[in-house]
Amino acid sequence: MKSFIPIIISIFCAFNLRAATPPQTEQNPPPLDPKNMDTSIKPGDDFFRYANGTWIKRTEIPPEYSRWGAFNELIERNNDALRVIAEQASKTQVDPKLAPEIQKVGDYYASGIDEKTIDALRTKPLAEEFQRIDAIKDRAALLKAIAHLHTIGVGAFFEFGSGQDAKDSSRDIAQAVQGGLGMPDRDYYTKQDADMKQKREKYVAHVTKMLTLLGEPADKAAEDAKKILALETKLAEASRTRVQLRDPIKNYNKMGVRQLQDVTPDWNWSDYFKTIDLVESGDVNVQQPEFFKAANDLFRSTSLDDWKAYLRWHLINATAPTLSKDFVDEDFNFRERILRGTQQIKPRWKRVILSEDNDIGEALGKLYVGFYFPPEAKARALELVNNLKEALADRIKTLEWMDEPTKQEALKKLAAFTVKIGYPDKWLDYSLLQIDRGPFVLNALRANEFEADRDIKKIGKPVDRTDWGMTPPTVNAYYNSNMNEIVFPAGILQPPFFYAKADDAVNYGAIGAVIGHEMTHGFDDQGRQFDAKGNLRDWWTPKSAEEFEKRSAAIVQQFNEYEALPGLHVNGELTQGENIADIGGVKLAYAALQKALDKHPEERAKKIDGFTPEQRFFLSFAAIWRQKIRDEDQKMRLTTDPHSPAQFRVNGPLSDLPEFQKAYGIPDGSPMVRSADKRVNIW
Ligand SMILES: [Zn+2]
Repeated sequence: MKSFIPIIISIFCAFNLRAATPPQTEQNPPPLDPKNMDTSIKPGDDFFRYANGTWIKRTEIPPEYSRWGAFNELIERNNDALRVIAEQASKTQVDPKLAPEIQKVGDYYASGIDEKTIDALRTKPLAEEFQRIDAIKDRAALLKAIAHLHTIGVGAFFEFGSGQDAKDSSRDIAQAVQGGLGMPDRDYYTKQDADMKQKREKYVAHVTKMLTLLGEPADKAAEDAKKILALETKLAEASRTRVQLRDPIKNYNKMGVRQLQDVTPDWNWSDYFKTIDLVESGDVNVQQPEFFKAANDLFRSTSLDDWKAYLRWHLINATAPTLSKDFVDEDFNFRERILRGTQQIKPRWKRVILSEDNDIGEALGKLYVGFYFPPEAKARALELVNNLKEALADRIKTLEWMDEPTKQEALKKLAAFTVKIGYPDKWLDYSLLQIDRGPFVLNALRANEFEADRDIKKIGKPVDRTDWGMTPPTVNAYYNSNMNEIVFPAGILQPPFFYAKADDAVNYGAIGAVIGHEMTHGFDDQGRQFDAKGNLRDWWTPKSAEEFEKRSAAIVQQFNEYEALPGLHVNGELTQGENIADIGGVKLAYAALQKALDKHPEERAKKIDGFTPEQRFFLSFAAIWRQKIRDEDQKMRLTTDPHSPAQFRVNGPLSDLPEFQKAYGIPDGSPMVRSADKRVNIW
C-alpha cells in the first residue's frame, strides 16, 4: 500500500506543476519577524504584546473567521494545498481500483462544489430519512429512529460508540455518553445571565426558521422550536458540566446489559443494538448514569409529536451545511454569526475541503502527505521528540517534590510513550465506502455511516493501535491517555511551528513547546491518573499525589485570576490540564534547547536581530500564539474551550518561569514575574 504514494505524485506532476510547490499566503517571512513586535512595550510588562503588538495593531480578523493567528495562517496554506489536490483529482479520470483515493477525493469534491445541483435538490435526497421520522407510531419505533440516526452520524438524544476500557486499555468496549444538545454546552440552557438568555431566544428563532424551511407552517414551527428547547433543557440539566466531565473515575461505570437495562427500563437496549448492528455488546461503560436515568423519563413522558420535531431538527441541523443555500445560510447565521461573531461565510471550495477532511480525511491526507511531507521532516521531528523526552526524564529524576517510587513509575510511563508523526503507518481502507458525484449530502451521510459502523465494529475487540484521532493535514497535535501516545500530524510540522532551516531556538520555542505540551498531558491532572499501559490506575504514593495537588491547585488559582473580557474570567478548573501542559511544555522545550546549545556552544554567543538564543526561544513561543479573536467567539470559548485565551497561554506560563525572567533581565515585581511564593512549577 505504501508504494502507492509515488504513483500518485507522478499522476499529479504530469498534470500540474503548481501542485508540487506549496502555495503560500505570505511571501516567506523570516522565522521570527521583528516587524511583528511592539518594542514600546517592555517584555516584563506584557510579553505577548511585546512580541506580537505590531502584528496585533496591523491585523484585521478576516470576515470569514472568528479568530485569526499563526494557526489560521497555516490552516489557510494547508487548505490551499488541499484544494489543488482535490481539484486535480476531480478532473482526473482514474480506474478506482488502481487509484481509489483519487476517485473518492475527486468525486467528493465535485459533488460538494456543484452548487447548482445542490440548490435544485434542496432536501430531496433526505426524503427517506424524514419519512422514517414521520412514520414513528410508538416508543419502539422512536427508539429505532434514534438508533438509525446514530448510524448516520446524527447525535440525537445521547451518544453511543466504542472506546478503550479505561481499566483494560487493550480492549475496546461500548460507551454510552450524555449528549443530544443543539447548542455548544449545557450552560447555554441553564445559565440565567442576559447573554445566555438572549442566545436561547436566538436559538429558538433559528430552529423555527430551519423547520419553516423544511415546510412547516410558521406558527407550528415556532411552537415546535419552543418544545425542542424545553426538551434539550431537560437533557442539559441532567448533563454533567465540562469540569465534572474531566474526572475519568466518575466517567467509569462499566455494567452488564441487564444492569444497563435497569438504568433505562423504558427502552429496550437489544432493539437499539439490533438497529446499530451491534451483535455482541458485552459490558457497557455508562459514563453518566444519572443522565441516562433522566433520559429514560424523558423518553417515556415526552409526546411522540415533540420527539418527532426534535429528531427532524437534529437531522436538519446535522446536514444543513451540505444542503441548499437557504439551509447553509441559516446554519451559518446561528452557528457562526451569532455564536462566534463571524461576519461572512467561507467560500464554497473551502467549506467543501473542510468537510472532506472531516469525512474522508485519510484519503485526502494520503494524497496530501505525498506532496507536502518529505521523509526528512519526519526524521527531524522524531529527533526533536527524543530530545524533549530526554529533558522530561531529566526533570522527573530531579523533581524536588516527588518521591522515588512515584518517580520510577513516571519514568516507566514516559519510556512507554508511543510517538506518531506525520501520518498513519496503516491507512484506513475506504473500499467499502461509496463516494460518487452526488448528491453531496449523501456522500457526507455515507461517510458518517462508514465511520459509525467502523466504530461499532471495534466493540469487544483488541484495540487497534495504528488508529489516528486526527487527519494528516490537521494543524494540531494530541496526547491520548488510554493509548499513552503523542501524535503530531504532518499539518503542524511546518512554519511557523517548524522550520527545516531555522536556528534551534526558534524551533524549540515553537514545535518544541508543542511537543513538550503534549508530553506533559501524560502527567497533567487527568493524564497522571493513567499508567504506562494507558490504564486508569493510581500509581502515586499519597505523599507525591498531595504535593501534585497542591501545585495544580495553585495553577487553577493563577488562571482563575485572568480576565479575558470585562467581567469574564478564565475558568481555572476547566483549563487546568491545558495550563499544566502549557507551563510544562515551554519549560521542557527550554531545557531541551539548553542541551542542544551545550552540543554547539558556538551558537550560544550568536545573536540574530540582536537577540540571544534564549530570547529568540521565548519570542518564537509567543509568536505561535499570536492571535486576535472576536468577543463572541471568546465568550463561547470561555464556556467550552479547555484552553486558555492566547495571551494567557503566553503570559501565564512565562510569568512562572525564572528562565524567562533571566533571559530578558526582568526586575522582580514586574507584571511578568510572579513572586517566588506564587510561582507554580510542576513539571
Ligand atoms: Zn493540550
